[in-house]
Amino acid sequence: MTDLLTPVLSANWADDRPWRINNYERRGGYDALRKALDMQPDDVIALVKDANLRGRGGAGFPTGMKWSFVPKDNPNPKYLVVNADESEPGTCKDIPLMMASPHTLVEGIIIASHAIGVSHAFIYVRGEVLHVARRLQQAVREAYSAGYLGRNILGKGLDLELTVHSGAGAYICGEETALLDSLEGRRGQPRLRPPFPAVAGLYASPTVVNNVESIASVPSIVANGKEWFQSMGTEKSKGFTLYSLSGHVKKPGQFEAPMGITLRELIDLGGGMRDGHKLKFWTPGGSSTPLLTAEHMDMPLDYEATAAAGSMLGTKALQCFDETTSVVRSTLRFVEFYKHESCGKCTPCREGTWWLVQILMRIERGEGVEGDIEKLLDLSENIGGRSFCALADGAVATVTSAIKHFRSEFEAGYTTPAWELFPYEKSALF
Ligand code: NAD
Repeated sequence: MTDLLTPVLSANWADDRPWRINNYERRGGYDALRKALDMQPDDVIALVKDANLRGRGGAGFPTGMKWSFVPKDNPNPKYLVVNADESEPGTCKDIPLMMASPHTLVEGIIIASHAIGVSHAFIYVRGEVLHVARRLQQAVREAYSAGYLGRNILGKGLDLELTVHSGAGAYICGEETALLDSLEGRRGQPRLRPPFPAVAGLYASPTVVNNVESIASVPSIVANGKEWFQSMGTEKSKGFTLYSLSGHVKKPGQFEAPMGITLRELIDLGGGMRDGHKLKFWTPGGSSTPLLTAEHMDMPLDYEATAAAGSMLGTKALQCFDETTSVVRSTLRFVEFYKHESCGKCTPCREGTWWLVQILMRIERGEGVEGDIEKLLDLSENIGGRSFCALADGAVATVTSAIKHFRSEFEAGYTTPAWELFPYEKSALF
């Protein structure tokens, strides 16, 4: 089974202290930077574009194309902001990556800054993960000392300052425009797009916001070339990626494999479902992607196939739930999260997520009333696509997909509490 794995980002995770710069360099770290600095910026952008690296933060937007949107004639400074505010429930790939190999990210940032014409880059890291912020700060200090950051990097004329900034622990600050507000010192709330940050972002200047994994993938593309990257994955979703496998599996964890691997293969890599139990439902990319069922286990995990199945690849956070799990209860837990994290700026999200929770709570208690399912669907229709940002879309994705696949469980909630149908002690997750 392990021949399905393609360790690139995770190749050094089991090394002795892989986060130290000398250990990173011993494995060829910063060689890609040397190569990139000998290339013209536009050639680096063309390479990433041609490799077809798609954003690993969830949306899958082509990274090289995003870089090329930065206007060349804008007199303002250009910024690169790495979104390290990983908070999507079930998603835990960027944090281990930054803990184990922060220099892969730092090297990617320097290459991307050279390509885009950036002289000040930021890493916006989630507030709760102080240990990650410290690890990043240590790596940045090491990179300055080694001459990879600062003035005239490696004597090639590139100047770059890199700042590590910790958020204060709000899920909404992972939304790119709320993140920029927060970085500017304001309360993190989403801005209307367009304009997209590539045109008007940090301090109203052209800003590329990229996910940690996207930027960390760049050095390997520069080192090995576009054909190497394209040799992995499916027709339109190329390369390797980190999948976060969690839930009722024997060995949850991060698995680095090509785009297009299936959930069945990943569960096998994770030792299988817990003994005597079967997969009931799962999320392809964290709690904001519509649920799928066991019948989708052989679907290639790429952007196209997940969309065709009515879901999204998202952050590739595969949360697996077995038959002991109440789908009503898990949906309620997911929506409670969104209700709590809603920033309150727009009414559909602020009010809508609250009402979804009220209705789901009574269905969970077995006190649902006739018409509640229709009310949930109607509310979802009036929230999804009508809010400022994707937070509310995520909240309703789980509701509508859970009803689509497991309507009878919601109907059972008109008469029977979920804890009678699905006793807590058997589930071990909820
Ligand atoms: P989006 O599709 O609107 O945008 C994706 C990226 O492409 C953004 O950076 C955006 O600025 C850029 N973009 C899109 N169209 C553009 C254009 N015309 N010109 C210039 N740039 C353009 O998605 P989003 O709302 O930014 O993010 C939603 C995704 O976030 C979801 O797929 C979800 O899976 C993911 N997510 C991730 C986490 C996490 O912890 N990693 C948490 C919550 C949600």
